[in-house]
Amino acid sequence: MDELRYQVDLLNAMNGRLQADERMYRLVCNTSLNAIVYIDCKRGTARTLANWDAFFPDVEIYTINDIAQIYSYIEEQSVLAFRDLLYTDKPGVNASGVFKLSDKKTYIEVEVQVVFDELGNLTDKIIRFKDVTKIHSQNDELAYMAYYDPNTGLINRNYFVSKLSDFVKRADDEGAVVSVMFIDIDGFHNYNDGMGIVIGDEIIQVFGQALKKYESENVLVSHFTTDLYCVAIYNPNNGLCAETIYHELREQMKTPFKLTNGSEILLTFCAGVADYPESASDSLELINCAEIVMFKAKDMGRGRIQYFDAPILKDFLINVDIENKLKEAVFNENFTMNFQPQFFTDSRRLRGVEALIRWKDKSGDMISPSVFIPVAEKNGAIIPIGNYVIKESIRNFVNWKKKFDTDMILSINISAVQYRTENFVENILDCISSYDINPQDIELEITESFLIADFNDVIMKLEILREYGIRIALDDFGTGYSSLSYLKGLPIDTLKIDKKFVDNICTDVSSRIILDTIIYMTKKLGYETIAEGVEDEDQYNYLKSIECDCIQGFYFSKPTDSEGIERLLLDGTV
Ligand code: C2E
Ligand code: CA
Ligand code: CA
Repeated sequence: MDELRYQVDLLNAMNGRLQADERMYRLVCNTSLNAIVYIDCKRGTARTLANWDAFFPDVEIYTINDIAQIYSYIEEQSVLAFRDLLYTDKPGVNASGVFKLSDKKTYIEVEVQVVFDELGNLTDKIIRFKDVTKIHSQNDELAYMAYYDPNTGLINRNYFVSKLSDFVKRADDEGAVVSVMFIDIDGFHNYNDGMGIVIGDEIIQVFGQALKKYESENVLVSHFTTDLYCVAIYNPNNGLCAETIYHELREQMKTPFKLTNGSEILLTFCAGVADYPESASDSLELINCAEIVMFKAKDMGRGRIQYFDAPILKDFLINVDIENKLKEAVFNENFTMNFQPQFFTDSRRLRGVEALIRWKDKSGDMISPSVFIPVAEKNGAIIPIGNYVIKESIRNFVNWKKKFDTDMILSINISAVQYRTENFVENILDCISSYDINPQDIELEITESFLIADFNDVIMKLEILREYGIRIALDDFGTGYSSLSYLKGLPIDTLKIDKKFVDNICTDVSSRIILDTIIYMTKKLGYETIAEGVEDEDQYNYLKSIECDCIQGFYFSKPTDSEGIERLLLDGTV
């Protein structure tokens, strides 16, 4: 009896333990975030466990064959791989894979575990489904960021280069052409600085959208940085080539863009185009060539397109070379000053000298200021160069004054870039006062390019300078916009008529008529006139006959060094 009771107690105890275990396993299973399918392989039955309904609410699984219902949840192109994974039945293999669901949003990780008996027969299979969307969408985002520009949704520079390399390879195989167009929005920095970066970003987006519609299997559209875009066209033809995109975009831009802040802007852009294999031998070179000619287009003005050609590349390379050498020259002040005398036409008396910079590079070659000054204006080197010119020419001028007691004028060329610096006026005034010279002896030569920029600001600064007595000459008159009407009221003292008018006065009647008119009008406006580039006696005589006040040119004297000017002051020879 005791024995029987003992057996019953034992059974009860074991049963209680089993129930506790069962409860524990059920709890662990049901609170799991995963979904599980358990398959009894011998019987061919299956059960779903844990968080099943959250994954596949419409799928009920009782046999192995029911599992096929899950296929419709998996993204189409992955169904076969998914099926292969479920059928894993090799001993020792615990296989897994990540699949995207057909909702295109959810990623699941699927893990299959298989169990075998001592004879090697498959007995059980457990398939576990885990939601890994969070990790994977972060990966997607990272991948997106690696290839796309988030502001425009266009592909970024790196991805563009890699896809362009594919185009180039394909073009080699198929004997095709690849065209690259580099695009830059005109004056973007003015919008960005003036209206703020939010508006700047909006402009970048709007422009990107306008370009995006050209994207196709054969057209890549990329946003490089700020306002730079690049388009590649595989096998361009009359229907779609760089030129058609350029013209269509231009047409589209004729309608103002409405910004979210309510303002409207008219955008223009410049484009540079280069073709593979004609202009370059690989994708990077192709982009470089398109970029170089884009800068050339920019030099020509707004809304321009420029196609690659060899002379442009040559000019570019020369400029790069000059730019490099110039940095060193500025550092070591490897410059000297020359001075070209100017004379009163009537009396042939010395009126003054124009200071002209000279640069001999390390190899001893003279590099003309008309070549290096534009480079220096672009990279900012004109500021130290301009300061050197002001100081050095005034230093020489003070010497001559001391030695010869002359009343001549010193003319100094001033670049618009220099003039736009904040403290330009103070700098000049400081320099003049530190050398103790009469401001009326100094003349600043400016060009019409000054007047295009911020007209009112320029005029205001010029007026301050003139109040101190400094003279202002308008240089190269006739090479720029050259309208006689705008001369009226300009705060200038002198008008320098460009050499191109003087060149033909003895051979060409219309040149003579133009020159006559300019001189007549200028004198009426009360400005002094100087004719530049006078090379022979006939030109001199003609200028004298129409009462041009002063002349400057090789006929009287070439530019010379300081000693040359001293000789001129001493005995009238240069
Ligand atoms: P620019 O201001 O018009 O200077 C006159 C140029 O014409 C000088 O060239 C001068 O040598 C040249 N010239 C004068 N008379 C004749 C002539 O009868 N026939 C010919 N064929 N040429 C004549 P340069 O010195 O080569 O200077 C070229 C340009 O470089 C200048 O044109 C000016 O725009 C710029 N430049 C020169 N020095 C400076 C400087 O110190 N600062 C700045 N900002 N620009 C400078
Ligand atoms: Ca000049
Ligand atoms: Ca000139």
